[in-house]
Amino acid sequence: MFVNTVEPEQALWLLFHENKLIIHTPSGALLHRSPGLLPFPLPDFHVVEQTAHRRVHVARIAAPELLTEDYGLQGLRDLLLTGTTENFRLAATALQILEWDRNHRFCSHCGAPTQPHPKGERAKVCTACHYAQYPRIQPCVIVAITRDDHILLARAQRYAIPMYSLLAGFVEVGETLEEAVDREVAEESGVTVRDLRYFGSQSWPFPGNLMLAFRAEWDAGDIVIQEEEIMDAQFFHYRNLPMIPPPGSIAHDVIMAAVQELTARYG
Ligand SMILES: [Zn+2]
Repeated sequence: MFVNTVEPEQALWLLFHENKLIIHTPSGALLHRSPGLLPFPLPDFHVVEQTAHRRVHVARIAAPELLTEDYGLQGLRDLLLTGTTENFRLAATALQILEWDRNHRFCSHCGAPTQPHPKGERAKVCTACHYAQYPRIQPCVIVAITRDDHILLARAQRYAIPMYSLLAGFVEVGETLEEAVDREVAEESGVTVRDLRYFGSQSWPFPGNLMLAFRAEWDAGDIVIQEEEIMDAQFFHYRNLPMIPPPGSIAHDVIMAAVQELTARYG
């Protein structure tokens, strides 16, 4: 991982304060050529990406008020809306590495301090028992269910805005992805599905999820919502959808793919 053959001018930096990116406000750039903009010693850093052309580092700094006025803070959800897919991917990876680093300073097996992997792998190794802790990714299924020319969308209790998205949930220990979809759909909406098809996946750094998106057809049952999590769920006509998640999210992509399918089928 730590190859030192890259020219210094190709060393780039992503900097965070807490969970927000430090961006160069006039240009909107999030990759900084030099950490020299920092008016204090450089903190611990990680290498996010290493190619023949560039090496991207990430570090978290504590005192953004010491930055010049040319720099500001941007949340990753804003970056998802306004930035490129590539920049979001890079920043999302970087933030997940920082979070993993912060959350694994001690061994979860014996409690002793950890240190970086001796061979440069992305792992933190216990100084006492040598247990290695790698970044943890949590698989989460999300499914676009159609019934004739309607799509099932749900408004979660946690949404402050009237946005409707797809049923989703974490894969539990021992489950296949298919079983996770069946269970989550049944728990949250009361319906059953058939013809499950894989759509695609997206790394989702809120905080460390891998979203696995599916398409399915409604099979049976009326909607009975799980009120602790869902405020409302309905089958919406594909030409009359409520507010849905923004472009850049796989939820948006799979909903739009379902709309395309229904448009082709129903006109
Ligand atoms: Zn240990």
